[in-house]
Amino acid sequence: MLVIVDAFLAAFLVTGCGPSVKETELKDFIKAHVAKVEPLSTQANLAYWDASTTGKAEDYDRLKKLQLDIHQVYGNRDEFALLKELRESFSPRTCAGGKPCPQVAGLSKLARQLDKLYYAYLQNQIEPTLSKEIVDLDTKIQERYSTFRATIDGKEVTMSDIYTILTTEKDCHKRELAWRASKQVGDAIVSDLIQLVRLRNKAAEELGFDNYHTFSIITSEQNPQELDRIFEQLDQLTSGPFARFKSELDQVLADAYGIKPEELMPWHYHDPFFQRTPLVYELDLDQYYQDRDVRKLAQKFYAGIGLPVDDILARSDLYDRVGKYPHAFSHDIDRRGDVRILCNLQNTERWMETILHELGHAIYSKYHNQSEPWLLREPAHSFTTEGIAVLFGRLSRNAAWMREMLDLPDVQYKELDKVSWKYTQFGQILFVRWAIVMYYFEKHLYADPDQDLNTLWWEMVEKYQLLRRPPGPLDAGWASKLHFTSAPCYYHNYMLGEILASQLHHYIVHEVAKRQSDPAFAAAAAESAKGVSYIGQKKIGKYLHENVFGPGARYHWNEMIERATGEPLTPRYFVDQFIR
Ligand SMILES: [Zn+2]
Repeated sequence: MLVIVDAFLAAFLVTGCGPSVKETELKDFIKAHVAKVEPLSTQANLAYWDASTTGKAEDYDRLKKLQLDIHQVYGNRDEFALLKELRESFSPRTCAGGKPCPQVAGLSKLARQLDKLYYAYLQNQIEPTLSKEIVDLDTKIQERYSTFRATIDGKEVTMSDIYTILTTEKDCHKRELAWRASKQVGDAIVSDLIQLVRLRNKAAEELGFDNYHTFSIITSEQNPQELDRIFEQLDQLTSGPFARFKSELDQVLADAYGIKPEELMPWHYHDPFFQRTPLVYELDLDQYYQDRDVRKLAQKFYAGIGLPVDDILARSDLYDRVGKYPHAFSHDIDRRGDVRILCNLQNTERWMETILHELGHAIYSKYHNQSEPWLLREPAHSFTTEGIAVLFGRLSRNAAWMREMLDLPDVQYKELDKVSWKYTQFGQILFVRWAIVMYYFEKHLYADPDQDLNTLWWEMVEKYQLLRRPPGPLDAGWASKLHFTSAPCYYHNYMLGEILASQLHHYIVHEVAKRQSDPAFAAAAAESAKGVSYIGQKKIGKYLHENVFGPGARYHWNEMIERATGEPLTPRYFVDQFIR
């Protein structure tokens, strides 16, 4: 398959009508484009870093201006027309009418850059007046969202008040009020959100796509049919195990509230959307980290697998400070090795996970081959870097990893292994069911924003999460999930990141780090590899460097995965790892 496409493309390059002229034209275009965009992008990345670390308005203003400059480059209609023409003469692929392009595979480096450019321009071709309308409405909703105050019996409450009630309160009526309060913002923003969906659809239709959902997926080089297939598989493979886990959980929860399992309502679970594991299985992992230094542990671990992060940490902003962005991220400033992470470290399990996660993103960026052109020195896809981050982030509660990194005695290890594995399994399976709801609901939302969305939401929640819809008229609680506004049509990428992490883990365990002579390792590998920790294995770092980080965006993400693991992305290994 790969060979055929390659040969086909080569034929176009060599024997097509005036290919050498086109090739030169494209090379000149890329040169001029990068000369313009590279400095802007580096400055914008620096401005973003400054804004996040200081919280100063002037840094945010500088960032906004630079983002606008970049948007203007990619919004250029003549240049887009030229790219479109070049792309048509390079290969017969078209994207008209929202029809998915065939998977791009084995393209030459030049054609790959052309693809990246084409999609980046396409995303910015929305007609300027309409684009402004979309941005304004998006901003309006987000402002309304952040200033909205939910109330219980007329008294204002914060989201953390609500979380406290949902995780600790035994009184079912109080729980119901708190759960309903968590959804109130939905009704407040829903009409604007539906209008935003209509505007986004209008923009996508003007560019020849069915709707904005299809547009987003195709311009991020994904294929709607393939996504549907992955989510269908996930649904089939997880529905039975999820039902078993949930009925066990329902019994525990019902006992705690003194009711029958069939009386449980959505407010009896510990999260407004039932997307996180209820605390009933929670295990205090913080006790293992409180006397340690999570920064040093992460530094030691990455050095051990041959991917040292000292330079990254030296440039990073790691500890809490007033005015600083309160969460965490990794940031590639210049695609030339200046990679930094932002954290607010404490010696807890959550921050152990976070620093491993962010450094996973950071090493991906740091180890791109500098010999690749600037346009390809980035991850193959946003979900592939998420996959690497997840692969390493998962170690913070991996009993084998903890035993070795923290010198735990055997008896502690065994106890930890039992509980933490169950918690991890349930967390993963719960997330799958939730991600399925998000994916399908959003797909239907963009296909027809004027249908009865509140009913649709509950039909999906009942079907995939096995929760009962509340009595009485349904509200637009679904709209309180801010992702629908701020990160549209993106949620599936979190799921794909998890799937990729498992696929890489399987390959690492069975092909890269295999130590057949070591019976303990062989036994752990056989047991779905849960006891494998990666510690001290330089060949794991080498494998990832050569097959994933180095090539960057040199290949379409699915070709990269196939080259790295021998097969395209598949949910099989995720299911093997967690759902047996
Ligand atoms: Zn991440």
